[in-house]
Amino acid sequence: MAETSSQPLSVITGGAGFLGSHLTDRLLAEGHRVTAIDSLITGNVANIEHLAGNKNYKFICHDVTDFIYIPGKVDYVWHFASPASPIDYLRIPIPTLKVGSLGTHNALGLAKDKGAAFILASTSECYGDPLIHPQTEDYWGNVNPIGPRGVYDEAKRFAEAITMAYHRYHGMNTHIVRIFNTYGPRMRLDDGRVVPAFIGQALTGQPLTIFGDGSQTRSFCYVSDLIDGIFRLMMSDFHEPVNIGNPREMTIRQFAEEILRITSANCQIEHKPLPVDDPKVRQPDITRAKTILGWEPKVDFDKGIRETIEFFRGRV
Ligand code: UDP
Repeated sequence: MAETSSQPLSVITGGAGFLGSHLTDRLLAEGHRVTAIDSLITGNVANIEHLAGNKNYKFICHDVTDFIYIPGKVDYVWHFASPASPIDYLRIPIPTLKVGSLGTHNALGLAKDKGAAFILASTSECYGDPLIHPQTEDYWGNVNPIGPRGVYDEAKRFAEAITMAYHRYHGMNTHIVRIFNTYGPRMRLDDGRVVPAFIGQALTGQPLTIFGDGSQTRSFCYVSDLIDGIFRLMMSDFHEPVNIGNPREMTIRQFAEEILRITSANCQIEHKPLPVDDPKVRQPDITRAKTILGWEPKVDFDKGIRETIEFFRGRV
């Protein structure tokens, strides 16, 4: 499609990441032009190489912790830049704090200057190790500010606070999505999260590394479902945080068993220490997303995980 000014322009920070690249594909399919910004600290050019030569797509290698300059009209700013895996934010704690704070400030400043709608990719980590289960948006969370995960959790909590301040003080059209565990093609095999870790281990015949006794729970959402919820939220007139995730909850032990069953792998289980402040339970209450956005996840676990395994099969 030729570039025309009637096509909305979306700026995506973190555009070469797992979620940013899937969001890009969805927006291009919706007829947007996309300018993606990524520092490539945790993003990956392999996620966007299929977009080379697309007239509606532009990539800028830039760290949004520094001032963001985009000429011309911008309609939507999608702020997805951040390390998102526990081992990444433990490895680079200060860039994690900076992108959540300074990066969010810059992304909001861009949206304000352009009169653009804004969405913050926030996280279920705002609930910390939750004392309410499942987690509803009105729960304020149980976060250790000075623990190793605090660099991510508190940066995202600050990001939510500054987003609401820009909404209230500047009257901006802002949105906040609290993203729960998401999986799918384009996750980094070495990002340390449980989905690529277990699949990579199962496909190479190594022991599956369960942290702790494996009784902690997570609820996994397939990436296309998540992107659909985020798209609907951006297009809505709702400004408070909304959980997007799949409420299908399982223990990490059950998840390991599912991976072994689906890959037909015959691997050992190896227990490793539970990381500090690892949440014991996590499950989104998605009543708000259902009511306000008419959204709920559609891709069942077996189908989503098979697609993800196929993606990793060619890469281990
Ligand atoms: N986990 C695990 N083995 C691994 C990686 C992670 O048992 O090799 C556990 C981790 O301790 C946590 C859960 O799996 O309880 C999900 O971890 P992940 O890093 O995917 O993200 P989190 O949900 O903690 O942000």
